[in-house]
Amino acid sequence: MKTDILIIGSGCSGLYCALQLPADKQITIITKADLESSDSFLAQGGMCMLKSDSDYDSYFEDTMKAGHYENDKKSVDIMIRSSQDVVKDLLSYGVDFKRDEAVALAFTREGAHSTKRILFHEDITGKEITSKLLAAVQKLPNVTILEHTTMVDIICRENICYGIAAQAVRAMNTASHFADSMESGNDLTVSVNDLSVGIDHNTTHSVVYRHAGVTRPVRSFLNLSQIVGLLTACIVTCFAALVVLFNGLNKVCRINAGLLG
Ligand SMILES: Cc1cc2nc3c(=O)[nH]c(=O)nc-3n(C[C@H](O)[C@H](O)[C@H](O)COP(=O)(O)OP(=O)(O)OC[C@H]3O[C@@H](n4cnc5c(N)ncnc54)[C@H](O)[C@@H]3O)c2cc1C
Repeated sequence: MKTDILIIGSGCSGLYCALQLPADKQITIITKADLESSDSFLAQGGMCMLKSDSDYDSYFEDTMKAGHYENDKKSVDIMIRSSQDVVKDLLSYGVDFKRDEAVALAFTREGAHSTKRILFHEDITGKEITSKLLAAVQKLPNVTILEHTTMVDIICRENICYGIAAQAVRAMNTASHFADSMESGNDLTVSVNDLSVGIDHNTTHSVVYRHAGVTRPVRSFLNLSQIVGLLTACIVTCFAALVVLFNGLNKVCRINAGLLG
């Protein structure tokens, strides 16, 4: 399949990204599980926001300290300065943050923060934010979401990404379903540019790209039967080695017995 923009993952960052992109672009979001299985749905606490310019230095210092001063300072600056706009966006998507008696946003304090600057929704802030983002994305006609679709490779040439190789599998509830799901998995490639990318079934799961009429291999995968074959070969080799060792030991014992006798 082809798409203008491909987003891997349907957590809050993937969904928020889709909402910021131009409406005239075809966007595909893939996620390896179902739409509600992501860390974003699990986040309990809340998210911080710059309440006023006077809090900037303290907010910056708290963030750097929590990151053992290894944080990228530019990213921290962007996170703090964009926090009010992000919160405005979230409110416009219907996110329901806790309010005080005056119906103003209520802030709490948690983690490494030295003052109250956390917005929250009960103890399910992640679910509140992500479910509202998801609902907003699902209304966009230019966005296609593929669940249970796992990216297994990125197709790059000269440092440019042309697409990915992905595998679509049925939901796996227990480990015993794994082999069955792998067998029933559908190979899929998504290309995001002029190169066409595809699975070449003649060469057992080799990913190829075709450009200017030339087909080139990108990477080969082992399928399930190849893995089983490899394991069987290992077991047979080990067994043969044990038989040789046992025969050798038996001979040595007989020689020793002969010498002693
Ligand atoms: C229990 C818990 C509590 C938390 N509490 C807080 C908190 O209070 N405040 C806070 O700010 N943060 C909190 N966090 C952290 C926060 O949840 C994450 O930082 C945030 O959700 C990351 O969002 P994301 O969209 O980048 O990633 P995720 O939400 O992890 O989404 C990643 C997505 O990528 C998909 N994916 C991954 N690999 C592939 C692949 N190969 N192919 C296809 N899809 C793939 C996944 O299926 C998923 O949809 C908490 C996290 C947890 C687990």
